[in-house]
Amino acid sequence: MSEASKQLKEKLFLNKKNGNFRVDEKVIDKCEKYCAGYKAFLNNAKTEREAVKSAVMLAEKKGFVPFDRAKKYSAGDKVYFNNRGKTVAFAVIGSENVENGFNITAAHIDSPRLDLKPNPLYEDLELGLFKTHYYGGIKKYQWTAIPLSLHGVFAKKDGTVIDVSIGEDESDPKFVINDLLPHLASEQVKRTLSDGIKGEELNVLIGSRPFKDDEGSELVKLNILSILNEKYGVTEEDFLSAELEMVPAFKSCDIGFDRSLIGSYGQDDRVCAYPALTAVLDVNMPKKTAVAILADKEEIGSCGNTGLESDFLLHILGDITKNIGGDLSVAIRNSRCLSADVNAGMDPTFQDVHERRNASLLNYGVVITKYTGARGKSGTSDASAEYVAEIRELLDKNGIIWQTGELGKVDIGGGGTVAVYIANMGIDVIDVGVPVLSMHAPFETTAKLDVYMCYRAMYEFMK
Ligand code: MN
Ligand code: MN
Repeated sequence: MSEASKQLKEKLFLNKKNGNFRVDEKVIDKCEKYCAGYKAFLNNAKTEREAVKSAVMLAEKKGFVPFDRAKKYSAGDKVYFNNRGKTVAFAVIGSENVENGFNITAAHIDSPRLDLKPNPLYEDLELGLFKTHYYGGIKKYQWTAIPLSLHGVFAKKDGTVIDVSIGEDESDPKFVINDLLPHLASEQVKRTLSDGIKGEELNVLIGSRPFKDDEGSELVKLNILSILNEKYGVTEEDFLSAELEMVPAFKSCDIGFDRSLIGSYGQDDRVCAYPALTAVLDVNMPKKTAVAILADKEEIGSCGNTGLESDFLLHILGDITKNIGGDLSVAIRNSRCLSADVNAGMDPTFQDVHERRNASLLNYGVVITKYTGARGKSGTSDASAEYVAEIRELLDKNGIIWQTGELGKVDIGGGGTVAVYIANMGIDVIDVGVPVLSMHAPFETTAKLDVYMCYRAMYEFMK
C-alpha cells in the first residue's frame, strides 16, 4: 500500500482498535485499582436492597445526606433519595439555573435470580425444600448444581423488618438445586434446552435432619422452621410477607492468566451501577445538577413503584427543581441522560448471533448503543443523531475508549433498557455501558478496561 493511500485510510476509515493498545501502563493500573472497589461492591450488593445499602454507605462517607424538603439547597450540595430501600438516586446540585437541565445517569441494581414463592417451604422424601419463581430472563438449567445463598427480608406484622443473608460467609451453609444424574437422564436430555430444567423444578434443597427423635410427619420441615424461629423469630406464616431471593454464592474474582477480566454474579447491571455511583460521588460543584439513579425491577420490565416506569424519577427532579427554584418542565426538556446498561459482548464461541460490524467486543471500551428493541427496532427510544454526536464529542475530548454496539443480528433477538422510560419524559437519552459475556448467567464476565472506561464516561458526563 502506498504512503498516500495509507494516510488517506487513516483519515477516512473508522478506526477500531483494542483499548489496551490505546492506553498506557498508568491507565491499566487505574483500571486495576478501580476494579478492586468494584469487586468488593459486587460481593456486598447481591440484591437491589443490598446495593442500595452499600451505595448509601459509600455516599454518606462523601457527604451525601437524605433530601429534606424543609432545607434549602444550593450549588455543591449533595443529597440522596431512597425509594423503599430498593431504588436510590444521588444528586449534586449544580451552579447553573436548574432550568438549563439535569445530567442524569441511570443504571439498574436488580439482577436475574430465584425468588422464593409466598409458600415456599415443604418436605418431600424427608428432605426440606423451597419452591421458587425465577425473576428475569434466565436459562434455568444454569442454576442447578451450584452453591446458592439466601438474601432478603422478612417483614413482620408488627412492622419490624428482619434482614436475611445466609451463604456469603466462608463458614455459612449454602443451598443447592439438584439436577438429574446423566445415567438416568436419557429422557431429560431429549428436552429442549429451555425446558432442560422447568420452572417448577427449580426447587432448592435446604435441609435433611428431622426434629429430634420425635415420631410423626414433616419433622425435617419442623426442624428447619425451628432453626429459623430461633434465628429470626419467624413462623411459616411470615414467609407470606417476605422478599427472599436465592442468588449464586460465588464471590467476584479475576479471570484469566493476565487477570484482565472479572467474573461474578450480577454484573448486569452492577457493572454500570457502580460506575454511575462512584462517578456521582466524585462530582463536585457541577454546572448542571448531576443525578445518578440506581433502579430496581429493570429485569422484569421496570414496572412497579421501584422501577423506572414509575414517576419516582419525575418526582425527585420535581423536588430538586422546587427546592432550588425553577420550572420543572423546562428543566426536564433541557435534560440529558446516559442509560447505563450492559451490551452483549461478542463471544468467540457464539459469533453467529452477532453482526460483526456492529457488535461490541471486550476491551474495546464503553459501548454506545443507539437503539435496542427487537424486530424492526420495536419498543426502543433510538437516540437522535445530534445527541449521539454530542456524546461522541464528550468521550473523544476526554480520551475515553469507546465503541458502538447492537444487541445481536437483526431479527435474532433484542432487548430493552430503562432508556425508553426516560425518553418518554422528553429527555435525550442513549444507552452507554459495558460489554458482558454470559449475560444473565449465574457468573458473568467483563473486562476491567471497559469497566473503568464506563466510570470515566459517567464522570465526564456529570461533572
Ligand atoms: Mn441490564
Ligand atoms: Mn439484564
